[in-house]
Amino acid sequence: MKISVVVPVYNEEENVELLYKKIKDVMIKNKYEHEIIFVDDGSRDKTFEIMKRIAQNDNDFKVIKFRRNFGQTSAMAAGFDYATGDIIVSMDGDLQNDPEDIPKLLEKLEEGYDVVSGWRKDRQDETKRVVLSKMANWLIGKITKVRLHDYGCSLKAYNSDVAKNLHMYGELHRFIPVLANIYGAQITEIPVRHHKRQFGKSKYNLTRTFRVIVDLILMYFMQKFMTRPIHFFGIAGFFLFVLGFSIDAYLAFEKIFFGINIGNRPLLLMGVLFIISGINLGGIGIISEFLTRIYYESQNKKIYNIKTTININEKTH
Ligand code: UDP
Ligand code: MG
Repeated sequence: MKISVVVPVYNEEENVELLYKKIKDVMIKNKYEHEIIFVDDGSRDKTFEIMKRIAQNDNDFKVIKFRRNFGQTSAMAAGFDYATGDIIVSMDGDLQNDPEDIPKLLEKLEEGYDVVSGWRKDRQDETKRVVLSKMANWLIGKITKVRLHDYGCSLKAYNSDVAKNLHMYGELHRFIPVLANIYGAQITEIPVRHHKRQFGKSKYNLTRTFRVIVDLILMYFMQKFMTRPIHFFGIAGFFLFVLGFSIDAYLAFEKIFFGINIGNRPLLLMGVLFIISGINLGGIGIISEFLTRIYYESQNKKIYNIKTTININEKTH
């Protein structure tokens, strides 16, 4: 059982060597077959030079250097793509997560889960961030039905198959449990330690709240309608169309049979608006259906994911 530890780092020159040593200690102490992959997300400080030096003395320490800053999600995705382990562990590169928690995560994974997520029960960040994140976690749980206390903790262990199939874009690393849930993975969480950031700065500020909100809408949509967007747009469009059509038909009826002047009735405009919006939504639904087909069929993706099969010959299905 080989373990790949994946760490995105962006301007973490004071942290990388310390973190490497801590991870290495845990790997050796527990006799894990392992590799440690640090992904340099376009650092402009000494992060890469330090890692280069470490890598000269340890073949299991691997470094991927990006050409520019592509973001934490991209760095994690690169690490997952290049990982060769059966199990992948991800964590932050700023020493806020504790490598000593890795054995606990792996034990839990062995119980049969596909993803074990860390829960920063005693989180050491600014109060306003902790409060905001608590609210976000509550909302994400309500909307996605994936029940965890802490979605955003980077310290997680995955079966490699799941980590490699998350298809993360943008800043969706915060929604890995939801993406894994869409894939069909069994997810659980355990409390992990969390330390104050000692060196370097946080790379995010509170403006991310808005990005989290729209990402959450996207996650909700993907979870429910990814393979059937017409059910969302089509139904909404159909109701709007029927509503608008009924309103205007009623007004037309008044005009024709009772001669009432309807030119100054706001309802007339509303009906027209509903009719046009309904047609537009229906059109978006149909285009989305085509996009879904292109997304899956052009990449030979399946709309299902199989865990195991019995007596099925791979070649004949
Ligand atoms: N990170 C990255 N690229 C970025 C931003 C952050 O690779 O564009 C890394 C960063 O070096 C750290 C991890 O992602 O290892 C988490 O970032 P940070 O600690 O700033 O986030 P916070 O803990 O404040 O949410
Ligand atoms: Mg941090």
